Amino acid sequence: MFNIVEDTQKTREDTRKTWEKIADYFRANSIWMKWYCTGCGAMEMPPTMTSRFDMEQLGMGPMATPRQADVLLITGYLSAKTLRRVIYSYEQMQDPKYVIGFGSCTLNGGIYFDSYATMTRLDHYIPVDLYIAGCMPRPEAIMNAFDTLIAMIKKGEAKGWKHYQDNYEWYNANQIHSLKEVRVKDEFHE
Ligand code: SF4
Repeated sequence: MFNIVEDTQKTREDTRKTWEKIADYFRANSIWMKWYCTGCGAMEMPPTMTSRFDMEQLGMGPMATPRQADVLLITGYLSAKTLRRVIYSYEQMQDPKYVIGFGSCTLNGGIYFDSYATMTRLDHYIPVDLYIAGCMPRPEAIMNAFDTLIAMIKKGEAKGWKHYQDNYEWYNANQIHSLKEVRVKDEFHE
């Protein structure tokens, strides 16, 4: 049976999805990357960014400030001191925003897994859309990860930023548990 309210609502949802798809298409083809150099794996970024591998062929470029960046690339292990800055950087980025964890240190602490000063799981503090395995990952692996992220954005599958919004209490509790104090919410949300 014809229901004008339901049909109008459905049309709006379809239109929204279409616009989201178009926006995701353009986002995926023009990505600004904030590179947070925390560990030794960062040495693989210069060849990735320069003529040998040339990440600009993917429509990606480096960005100096998190406020205008789309992707946060964390290249290595995190101490309490650096984790705090990573969280501040992530909070300053505009939605939608994406995170790549680079190297085994971001996944499980890597060779520093039992250090008193190392955070072993990046995704306990901010959402990670994609990890690059290895210690240290080669530029080919980084380019492959960028390709994968672009495909994920186009398909609407890179939704870590939404997960962060929906589960903010969980992330914030982990942040406070490890750092004792995080002033992110006070400074950027209130
Ligand atoms: S994963 Fe390996 S290369 Fe990367 S920061 Fe850790 S120890 Fe260094």
